[in-house]
Amino acid sequence: MIKHRIATLFVSTTDRCNLACRYCSAAAGPARKAALAPEIAERAVCQWLSDLEGNRATLVMTGGEPILWGLENLERVCRVATTEAGRRSIDLTIGIQSNGVLVDDDFINLLQRWRIEPGFSLDGPAHVHDVRRGNGAATLAVLKRLQARAVRFAIVSCLTPELANEIEDALEWFRRQGFLKIRVNPIGEATRVRRSERLSPDTLFNVKKAIYEHMQRHQEGAVHERNVGRQVKKFDQAFRGRTVVKEHCEQLKCGAGVHLACLDPDGSFNLCVEKSMRGGLGRAASLDRLPRARQEFWRNKKRWSHCSSCPANAICDHGCVAYHKMDFCKFEHECAANRMFWKYLVAERAPSLTRTHG
Ligand code: SF4
Ligand code: SF4
Repeated sequence: MIKHRIATLFVSTTDRCNLACRYCSAAAGPARKAALAPEIAERAVCQWLSDLEGNRATLVMTGGEPILWGLENLERVCRVATTEAGRRSIDLTIGIQSNGVLVDDDFINLLQRWRIEPGFSLDGPAHVHDVRRGNGAATLAVLKRLQARAVRFAIVSCLTPELANEIEDALEWFRRQGFLKIRVNPIGEATRVRRSERLSPDTLFNVKKAIYEHMQRHQEGAVHERNVGRQVKKFDQAFRGRTVVKEHCEQLKCGAGVHLACLDPDGSFNLCVEKSMRGGLGRAASLDRLPRARQEFWRNKKRWSHCSSCPANAICDHGCVAYHKMDFCKFEHECAANRMFWKYLVAERAPSLTRTHG
């Protein structure tokens, strides 16, 4: 038996979705049919946990819309994962990523029964969210129900042009709603996004700055945005001369296939949940064949040599290889914004870090 270090397993339950967002990185939609056979999911999850080196694991059920896979199937996977983790003394976290529209009481009961930590897609208040995704009011009503039942959840927002335009107001709105744990993801080169819709480096930088200022202003009561929060933490570590811990995505060769992997609806494994990565390479029939798939995937990829001398390297995520296919030009706006943000943090934080730790 070959041990692995894949501490995070995404289970892509189905390609079906009740929505058809143009920027969906999973290219899911109502017309898609692929669905994972539940017995394959159970077997794969069991094997993943039994061969895991280490005692912490995260299982994330995603899609498409996982609710369309069926609550019984979700229940089966939770049961087998919890049982196997218990047998092996593994500290298991179960997550689920949903657009929230189809949530009902049965689903909320399932979340509570298995202590699932859900994440829901919401791109801002309804007038912002609805431009690209729709169903904003319904999603908000669901999130209020979850709050009333004391279910803790995270929000995942796509950085649409509309959200970027109103980022300060949107953060205040999230705060007033009590949605304090969010992640704002750049749209990247997802399949159905037009090039003309890409945000400029200045806009991307201004979004980071607005998020940073919001978190500084409200401190404990702020909306905590994960990406900027992580960049600030890494900046402080780098400035204090500590080793910056890079994880999963945030290294020149990301953690796809080493720290994380995805079980696809057809029962095969992929290096990462990002489906735009698919294209033959990076796919394996079983977990123990992933290292080889990773080698093949990286064989002809160019590395970004100029990054090694870039000061912003410490806070950079180097762009997702799935989104950017290692084409530097596709990441240049994010790269420029990262460098601007680094300079901004030097001006904002370095003086006080020098005083307290110099
Ligand atoms: S900011 Fe740009 S140049 Fe610097 S490390 Fe990131 S991708 Fe490389
Ligand atoms: S950088 Fe992209 S491909 Fe790599 S682990 Fe992160 S999301 Fe996956």
